[in-house]
Amino acid sequence: MSDTASTPDAMPSAAPDADWTTGQPALLYEACAACGQRSYFRRGFCPRCGASPVAVLVSARRGTVYAVTTVVRAPSPEWKALAPYALLLVDLDEGPRVMTHGAAGLAIGDRVQIGFLPLGEHLVPRAEPLAELPADEPRASS
Ligand SMILES: [Zn+2]
Repeated sequence: MSDTASTPDAMPSAAPDADWTTGQPALLYEACAACGQRSYFRRGFCPRCGASPVAVLVSARRGTVYAVTTVVRAPSPEWKALAPYALLLVDLDEGPRVMTHGAAGLAIGDRVQIGFLPLGEHLVPRAEPLAELPADEPRASS
């Protein structure tokens, strides 16, 4: 889970409390400078070593599907309009595992980009398939 080399897109958040839970299209996580632990749930301290404070970073919102479930009985009228829908656990490239709404047809191991779906007065994270081209290969033209 700990990788320190593949996070070029992580950057300090200008407004560390502004994420999708407050209506901003961002996904934040905490990173511990002392032990390297990265956590999605924000506590203000490291759940592994107890260090505080921890840095709040903005995720690039790319990752790999860890688990998929289909929700048939939705919890509210807004969600009922979407049912049945996929609920995913996604391992972000930065390390933390997050729960998101998912596009239909996603499976374990698929690469995804997480965007945001307006739902009622809120935003919810939603994963879409990520089409990645191999590095240093020109796009095929046919
Ligand atoms: Zn730590």
